[in-house]
Amino acid sequence: MLRALARAATLGPGVPWVRWSGSQAVVSAQVVDLRSDTVTRPGPAMSRAMAEAVVGDDDYGEDPTVRELQEKTAELLGVERTLFVPTNTMANLISVMVHCRRRGSQLLLGQECHIQVYEQGGVAQLAGVLSHPLPDLPHGMLDLTELEKVLARGHGSPYHPVCELVCLENTHNSSGGRVLPMDYLHQVHLLAKTYGARIHLDGARLMNAAVALRVPPARIVEHCDSVSLCFSKGLGAPVGAVVGGPKDFIEEAWRFRKALGGGMHQSGVLAAAALLGLADAEEALLQDHGNAQRFAKGLQELASPFCFVDPATVETNMVLVRVSGLSPSELCQRLQAVSPDEVAQIGHAVRVLLFPWTEQSVRAVWHRGISTHDTDLALRKWELVLRQLEP
Ligand SMILES: *Cc1c(COP(=O)(O)O)cnc(C)c1O
Repeated sequence: MLRALARAATLGPGVPWVRWSGSQAVVSAQVVDLRSDTVTRPGPAMSRAMAEAVVGDDDYGEDPTVRELQEKTAELLGVERTLFVPTNTMANLISVMVHCRRRGSQLLLGQECHIQVYEQGGVAQLAGVLSHPLPDLPHGMLDLTELEKVLARGHGSPYHPVCELVCLENTHNSSGGRVLPMDYLHQVHLLAKTYGARIHLDGARLMNAAVALRVPPARIVEHCDSVSLCFSKGLGAPVGAVVGGPKDFIEEAWRFRKALGGGMHQSGVLAAAALLGLADAEEALLQDHGNAQRFAKGLQELASPFCFVDPATVETNMVLVRVSGLSPSELCQRLQAVSPDEVAQIGHAVRVLLFPWTEQSVRAVWHRGISTHDTDLALRKWELVLRQLEP
């Protein structure tokens, strides 16, 4: 038995790791980390690319790997230039700073979007911009009638703040990775034009949207004046994002990056990881989307009274599961704990890591660290936990 476990320890992924404690083997659990697509760690190829990156001082425009990344992403996004920045948060803030030069100007955005909820109000504390949050519709879109009302009110009126910018998010995180439809982007574009506002696209997961819509990312960006793209989500790099737009926009962005302390030197080490993440983005993201869909369908088939999921709403790498009969945090705790009979029932000890998302839901996110096998393990663990809840 012990020898069999020791042998198992040398096998590939999916096999529990074995630790020796005195004469007893302790089987550690297989961890399936579905908390976020930011949890990936660089694999051997990415680590090697980082170690071997050709670098120079990017402050002087002399880092060839950063330049390569900026050129490639400008082409990919269909913009004149891009600028490599440490985080997508900084990419968003810089964009707001460039677009909204007048202090007290107004930024329209969804009330649950990342800029509004997760970025420490940087647009207020550092850009002096007034956010005007609008309600999000279930698909992650804004109500266009509402949007037009606010845009029209500020337009040419000395009594209202000037609406300089509309921020959109694609894919839309808080709605569970929903993809903004192309005709919606087109309509927002027309409205913004009519009222003299610009559009910034928070495209942290733009590649997920492009893959889901089967269009080149540039087609999505066409409707926007600036865009961000994050490398440390589904693209699997440890750090980094780009902000993209016209040449004069990026020249101003360069100054703000400097002001915010985001100017870097031999940052080719980081750009090398981003380039590698981009190289197989389509394949990797399709796999994530497929696994998320597989999980959603599997969970739906369990037909549990405690969990509800609609696979039709799973468009990319996220699954929002509505929870009833117990709190989302209790469900998360149960999925994370290993029960004594688990190895016998699932064949593995499995810990599924998740975050409670709202008061009635949990969110699961797929990424490069989660294989189809891991997805099935998570599903089996989920089934076990749900069965244990039944009277
Ligand atoms: C993660 C995320 C960001 C911020 O990215 P960081 O690189 O972590 O700063 C911005 N917008 C959206 C939609 C995100 O999901």
